[in-house]
Amino acid sequence: MIRSIFTFLLMALLSTSVLAQESFLKNKVIAHRGAWKAQNHPQNSIASLREAIQLGCEGTEFDVWMTADGVLVVNHDADFEGLEIEQVPYKTLLSKTHPNGEQIPTLEEYLKEGMKQEKTKLILEFKPSGISVARSEKIGVEVVKMVQKLQAEKWVDYITFSYEGGLKAIQTDPNANVAYLTGDKSPEELKEAGFFGFDYNIRLLKSKPEWIAEAKNLGLTTNAWTVNDPEDMKWLLDQDVDFITTDEPELLLELINLK
Ligand code: MG
Repeated sequence: MIRSIFTFLLMALLSTSVLAQESFLKNKVIAHRGAWKAQNHPQNSIASLREAIQLGCEGTEFDVWMTADGVLVVNHDADFEGLEIEQVPYKTLLSKTHPNGEQIPTLEEYLKEGMKQEKTKLILEFKPSGISVARSEKIGVEVVKMVQKLQAEKWVDYITFSYEGGLKAIQTDPNANVAYLTGDKSPEELKEAGFFGFDYNIRLLKSKPEWIAEAKNLGLTTNAWTVNDPEDMKWLLDQDVDFITTDEPELLLELINLK
């Protein structure tokens, strides 16, 4: 009797974990800086995050900087409404808002919002520091630590232009999925260094289409940015890349649903 109860509990636990793994969407569509364009939301705002989730994107991308006093915040540019993020303490950034009235989200706030659902993954780009490589490395470590603190690992994949920062992120969590953005490393080099895949400029990939097959053979993921032209989208779908990063997630979802 006890044994059958135990077996039942074990089966229930296993099926729950399988369901949890399968709940994330698989449609290749990554909303670039959230889904902002069609609805005129500020890029990287909580509103753009919610919009990407509501659309049913596989992932929603956002950019992370570190303030002078070490707070991780979500914004694309090096400045937020004219304030240089790396040069000012977090509190100073609160004197400005996005046009929709939102304050600059901290990474913690942004992740907590994204973790309210289990369909759309959170694609965390950490920006190279404009101050030093050492600071880029520190950001690579700190973003991973924040994800670990919130137990957000299953939601988050990372991307970065900072090769050194990427290596630090991988060192901090060897299971972290970190893809590289700059385009100056071959698939073999990325595999060797422990990266999860590449996320390269569409123009670069069109000039080196063999890198897509090479990456697949090595078990690396393939992603392209920033793909807004339907012809480029179709070309990438024909190449069967894993992800396509776009400012036009509605258009790409439509193309994929037609396939
Ligand atoms: Mg980005």
